[in-house]
Amino acid sequence: MPTSKLISGYREFRDKFDSEHEVFERLAEEGQNPKVLWIGCADSRVVPELITGADPGELFDVRNIANVVPPAASAACATGAAVEYAVIHLNVSHIVICGHTDCGGIKALEASPDPGSQPHITSWLELARPARDRVLGSDVAEEDRYLETIKTNVLMQCENLRSYPCVADGEQSGGLSIHPWLYDLFTGDVLEFDQDSGTWGTIAESAAGLET
Ligand SMILES: [Zn+2]
Repeated sequence: MPTSKLISGYREFRDKFDSEHEVFERLAEEGQNPKVLWIGCADSRVVPELITGADPGELFDVRNIANVVPPAASAACATGAAVEYAVIHLNVSHIVICGHTDCGGIKALEASPDPGSQPHITSWLELARPARDRVLGSDVAEEDRYLETIKTNVLMQCENLRSYPCVADGEQSGGLSIHPWLYDLFTGDVLEFDQDSGTWGTIAESAAGLET
């Protein structure tokens, strides 16, 4: 994408900023009050506001490679800091962890990157490797392992999320819900994992929404 497209896009935004000034003025004066923490992949095709139609101020976003939540005891604390801030200070009611098909981070687990030239990628992806190990240790057919690892990674990152006391407390009190989501790049569908049935179903037909 040439830079000129970004600049012309900014000009359009600037016009919108003026024409919808009340919205932006309210956000600037009253501060943010998002009800949803979105933890998604940094993949440029997985744009949370595009997928959900959320407006500025509605989603607190954290995006990283492979939508990872390091366990609370981990030294990698950037995502954990955002989790604590969203739960304790912003008092969000929902946390979405959204994986996606064709995830390069999960694909990279099949052929480990060179730790010499890519030490940070190597270290980061170790946080997703338990998902691949779990799938490899199951009877999932070889051709299904990639997608299954993507799904399992979402569920295991939800488990990591619960290692944060503020999240565990919030879930226990009923004020906080965790939503494991999967965005399908090919169909545009978003699926949510249902704990009771153990299956993934489209959120368009889900009774459990993100009502606050
Ligand atoms: Zn990804």
